[in-house]
Amino acid sequence: MKVLILGSGGREHALAWAVARSPRVTQVACAPGNGGIAQIARCVPVDLKDLAAMVSLAEAEQPALTIVGPELPLSLGVVDALQQRGLRVFGPTRAAAMLETSKGFAKQFLHRHNIPTPNYAVCTTAAEVEKASEVFHPPIVVKADGLAAGKGVIICPSRNTAAEAAQGLFTGALLGQAERQVVIEEFLEGDEISFLCLSDGKHVLPLVPAQDHKRVGEGDTGPNTGGMGVYTTDSMLDPAMIEWILHHIAEPTVAGMAEEGAPFAGVLYCGLMMTARGPEVLEFNCRFGDPETQPVLMRMESDVLGAFIASTEGRVSDGDLKWSPEPAVCVVLASGGYPGAYEMGKKISGIEEADRVEGVKVFHAGTTERDGAFYTAGGRVLGVTARGRDLAQAVERAYAGVARIRFEGMHYRKDIAARALRSTSAR
Ligand code: AMP
Repeated sequence: MKVLILGSGGREHALAWAVARSPRVTQVACAPGNGGIAQIARCVPVDLKDLAAMVSLAEAEQPALTIVGPELPLSLGVVDALQQRGLRVFGPTRAAAMLETSKGFAKQFLHRHNIPTPNYAVCTTAAEVEKASEVFHPPIVVKADGLAAGKGVIICPSRNTAAEAAQGLFTGALLGQAERQVVIEEFLEGDEISFLCLSDGKHVLPLVPAQDHKRVGEGDTGPNTGGMGVYTTDSMLDPAMIEWILHHIAEPTVAGMAEEGAPFAGVLYCGLMMTARGPEVLEFNCRFGDPETQPVLMRMESDVLGAFIASTEGRVSDGDLKWSPEPAVCVVLASGGYPGAYEMGKKISGIEEADRVEGVKVFHAGTTERDGAFYTAGGRVLGVTARGRDLAQAVERAYAGVARIRFEGMHYRKDIAARALRSTSAR
């Protein structure tokens, strides 16, 4: 069976790696892919912003299954377009992807279905923002409605700064694209959890929970990034809490989308804040997270292909996903300057040595290969991922892998999972 993966990051490398292990898979193609993916899949160029190009590629390749990695092609309706041409594709339709592509839609949907989420107002003018802000205590959270690659959330210390942020979103000064509407939201405190589920439009199956580290600096300081590291352990959420989240958040979301005529099939990523009054939805993503996918798929013991196909056929059921109880950790190695401006084309050494460390797998996020050597080709370059008998060992192995890799300007967080390790040792 031939599988086509759309995307070019660490998530897609992990997907290609997991899919290639399936005994049913004979060929993996990835478009456009990256230097690491090219080691295990045939990489084909494509512009992920160009719907027609993706459709002609899939028509030419005729894969038995297409897996869509990032949100942009989903927002363009690549799933609808491929389905119309009779091609099997894993991921939500454009209408279902609105849970991620419009924060205003997501908030109003959550409200309609009584799913816990912070208080909010959807505003289309500066005057509405000013009026709405009066009822929120600072800090006030201001969110762009549309896709913003992790840059669309501004935590504002006062009503004035909230008004300025909203204005910056409306005019396009902040993101480079003008937002038609913005979401004003109550600020919540707590631990964040990425709760990912597999759905077929009707049934919901949770993946193992994970925690991302979004800020660039140790101790959660500095600007937000696409994600600097992740860990996943079973102890992160107890079974009763998983049941609660399923019954009060994930299942009503999938049922609500079906009821509204836009059934959600694919990976539903619930970004949750674990507050004093229980879990609340901060955001939805309509696809696998990056870098959550890397350590999560390292823990998967079942044939991931079977689970994806089940999602496309409306038959996701308990038992489709089997997991290793071992925790896993991913440490992201970034280019100097990231998440700001950075240079590319730096030669990378030590990837093979890192891969040889027990329990370690290096996933490529932004690399190219030239004459047998790898060079940096993005802000996030590599995700050094490891499994271990406990979290401490997984962390130790991941950093042992990191220690073998070098490129000019390389930086990474040294405290991935450190808070969890401290609280386990304090227990
Ligand atoms: P989002 O893209 O909505 O997940 O927001 C990105 C990040 O902003 C989240 O991972 C949180 O760290 C933070 N954030 C978003 N909404 C809130 C909120 N209501 N209260 C506190 N922090 C938030």
